[in-house]
Amino acid sequence: MLNLEKSAAAFEEAKGLMPGGVNSPVRSYANVDGGPPFIARAEGARIYDIDGNEYIDYVGSWGPMVVGHAHPQVVQALQEAATRGTSYGAPTCIESELAKLIMQVMPSIEMIRMVNSGTEATMSALRLARGFTGREKIVKFIGCYHGHSDSLLVSAGSGMATFGVPSSPGVTRGTAADTIAIPYNDPEAFQKLMEEHGSEIAAVIVEPVAGNMGCVLPRQGYLRLLRKLTEEQGALLIFDEVMCGFRASLGGAQAAYGITPDLTCLGKIIGGGLPVAAYGGRREIMEKISPAGPVYQAGTLSGNPLAMTAGLATLSIITAEPEPGEADYSRMLTLKTKKLLLGWQAKAREAGVTVQAHQAGSMFGIFFNEKEVWDYEDAAASDQEAFKVWFKSMLEQGIYLAPSQFETLFMSGAHTDEDIERTIEAAGTAFQKVAESRK
Ligand SMILES: *Cc1c(COP(=O)(O)O)cnc(C)c1O
Repeated sequence: MLNLEKSAAAFEEAKGLMPGGVNSPVRSYANVDGGPPFIARAEGARIYDIDGNEYIDYVGSWGPMVVGHAHPQVVQALQEAATRGTSYGAPTCIESELAKLIMQVMPSIEMIRMVNSGTEATMSALRLARGFTGREKIVKFIGCYHGHSDSLLVSAGSGMATFGVPSSPGVTRGTAADTIAIPYNDPEAFQKLMEEHGSEIAAVIVEPVAGNMGCVLPRQGYLRLLRKLTEEQGALLIFDEVMCGFRASLGGAQAAYGITPDLTCLGKIIGGGLPVAAYGGRREIMEKISPAGPVYQAGTLSGNPLAMTAGLATLSIITAEPEPGEADYSRMLTLKTKKLLLGWQAKAREAGVTVQAHQAGSMFGIFFNEKEVWDYEDAAASDQEAFKVWFKSMLEQGIYLAPSQFETLFMSGAHTDEDIERTIEAAGTAFQKVAESRK
């Protein structure tokens, strides 16, 4: 049994200090019964809790830690930067350096604005889209998460396109009414919506590879359809690549699927573990942002040198030219991920447990589901009890996974073949536990 005594005490204290004991909900382990390990430190692919337990980490701070924790190059760059002061609220050259590097990898971004969180990026991109088009409605897809700004905390009943109902208290009906939520991966629903309301729509925002209902890939041709119909109707297409940027492929989902969005939101990896996000895209649209244009958006700490340094160091590692004969960083991550998932699938079969395994580059996940998973409804029909049994067994064996089936897992460059073998072995035991629990 895992000893989590100190973590349990720390969690009790934290619950009196912060809502649910955490600063972001999913960390509380509410979905899997029992409290979370409190983390003391992390290095490479390992994370260590305050009880001294060591885990192989596939959460990676929910995506950013693509080169592993405390990578020496990132740490050194940060140490040097910190001695020069952590924020000036004034322009610096490193902002342009990071901007140029991002644009090299994602040529659809002709101009960019740095912000501090993914939430800010999507919220600002929507304001920009409304300012640019002079329209008010936005379209999102059920199960896609774009941060917690009011107009995006909206979902809808199942099936038909409906004008949004708030999915959190505190979001006004007025705000929600401007958001239309329809199922992901459903071409007919999208076609119908665009026929009926296309001319009112400022923007369609999508996770081109969904990562917040578990890892769910777009159906063949689906992103192309979004591109085609938005263009026809004069609505902007916003790719929220906060998670899948630099993961679905180095150039994100837009490179992997060959689609050029009007605007892209980035986050997670571009901050290398510090709070950085960004939105960018076509120059004529981005030039509407203040002070070049009338759409207001600002940030005291935006583009601060510490955060830019972590992002630049991380992106420099993953975009570096490979040694002759070696795979580039992104390909290396994809191959590791594939190896892990093939191993998990083989162990699941041995145990007689059916899972749906999904991968997009270095994003991956499994659903305990007999059927294919293409949208939120499919994902939600997965076996929750099986997931709990699997998750707990993995944690006890030193494998740190997201405590929910509706989250994505991440590979880093620090995971070794040996880590992956160990994770596959552990999965064998965990799938057996699932099989026993179903008897
Ligand atoms: C994480 C995430 C966000 C929100 O980013 P925060 O930095 O947590 O505000 C937005 N969109 C997607 C696709 C994400 O995965």
